[in-house]
Amino acid sequence: MFEKVLIANRGEVALRIQRACREFGIKTVVVHSEADRDAKYVKLADESVCIGPPPSISSYLNIPAIISAAEVTDAEAIHPGWGFLAENADFAERVEQSGFVFIGPRAETIRLLGDKVSGKNAMKKAGLPVVPGVDQELPENPGEVVKIARSIGYPVIVKAAGGGGGRGIRVVHTEAALPTAAQVTRSKAQAAFGNPAIYMEKFLEHPRHIEFQVLADKFRNAIHLGERDCSLQRRHQKVIEEAPAVQVSARNRLRIAERCAEACRKIGYQGAGTFEFLYAGGEFYFIEINTRLQVEHPVTEMITGIDIVQQQIRIAAGERLGIKQRDVQFRGHAIECRINAEDPYRFTPSPGRITSFHVPGGPGIRVDSHAYNGYFVPPYYDSLIGKIIAYGDTREQAIARLNTALSETVIEGIKTNIPLHQELMHDAEFLRGGASIHYLEEKLAQLVREE
Ligand code: ADP
Repeated sequence: MFEKVLIANRGEVALRIQRACREFGIKTVVVHSEADRDAKYVKLADESVCIGPPPSISSYLNIPAIISAAEVTDAEAIHPGWGFLAENADFAERVEQSGFVFIGPRAETIRLLGDKVSGKNAMKKAGLPVVPGVDQELPENPGEVVKIARSIGYPVIVKAAGGGGGRGIRVVHTEAALPTAAQVTRSKAQAAFGNPAIYMEKFLEHPRHIEFQVLADKFRNAIHLGERDCSLQRRHQKVIEEAPAVQVSARNRLRIAERCAEACRKIGYQGAGTFEFLYAGGEFYFIEINTRLQVEHPVTEMITGIDIVQQQIRIAAGERLGIKQRDVQFRGHAIECRINAEDPYRFTPSPGRITSFHVPGGPGIRVDSHAYNGYFVPPYYDSLIGKIIAYGDTREQAIARLNTALSETVIEGIKTNIPLHQELMHDAEFLRGGASIHYLEEKLAQLVREE
């Protein structure tokens, strides 16, 4: 096992990784920007290194600064968390070339799966059902593009091959709109990701977002930890996640989960990962793999009792998976609310000093947050300030506990989206379960109209 791990991230995930390390007796080094100097998790770490000014590009994305922090502190491994450099194959490669262990998949795996077209093809070959479409980048010739769309059938969706975060995505309903849509997505892709490659697939009208958590070691052992339903999204950002996914037969879920684990064995995947699917008409359609820890990992931890971050560390240290598939027991139901520093309905960021902070507690409640009374939420980064996760024997119990937890929570001095969560906990469609990925946006649009 490692003696010292460097955490190349900030905020809640930096604290989450620190906790996992501490339990193992591993010393931690936290790198931070000037804006995060006074954060409590920075002070709690065994060592901390300031790597630059507040903007991410000069600090949390500054590869040479992070590598030299690992060198001067004698860290053995680097955990990238999520966001920032977590899915950057060049970073993973640089870490390994500099003599450190990257806590995540191999650079070549990140590269293969980071390109949506090659990733989709690899997964199709590995036996996963994918969204109908064409297994190649779209050609430049508009006539060819029209032909491809006809073969798929409208509506189609045009996406960036090197994309992420739903940026540049266009839904096209008619042939007349296609050439412009392809052109716009291509130039957005070039601007946002430095890669103009785009691809096309069938647009599924009202799918749910259901994803599967996997763990795989360096010896081609792989298991799955079941699924999470993350359909409640705004602008392709998840807002509430839960496990298990309701209204999907256990047989259907298990069948796909096992194929994900099998795909890991086939491609020699190493570490934790998430296979994302759209679920429509009783069928699963693969869209992409996230080669990292996810924000919503706690719901899986709550229903399996497995610490995913510790498993990542064990795998990176070269251990064999200590858990067999038959050892994984799914119990109860867990739901997570992401708490953001933002206006609950306008979604404008609300950075600033937290003047009062009380977190909820009680049976089945877990709070993952780096915030505290007096904490200053810096304006430079993502607005996520924590998560409240509720566990119950049933979904109803988890919702009841979450409701109580939200009403106990006090965060003053900044705005948060807690009022929105409280409203959703009473929403008939949410209570029924199985809402599509468009439901939240539609509800929000209606709220704005009523205002
Ligand atoms: P990105 O990498 O940009 O995040 P994804 O392929 O993961 O792109 O898609 C982002 C989101 O766009 C999905 O979570 C889903 O909400 C929507 N989406 C993607 N592909 C389709 C599709 N074929 N049909 C309907 N919605 C889709």
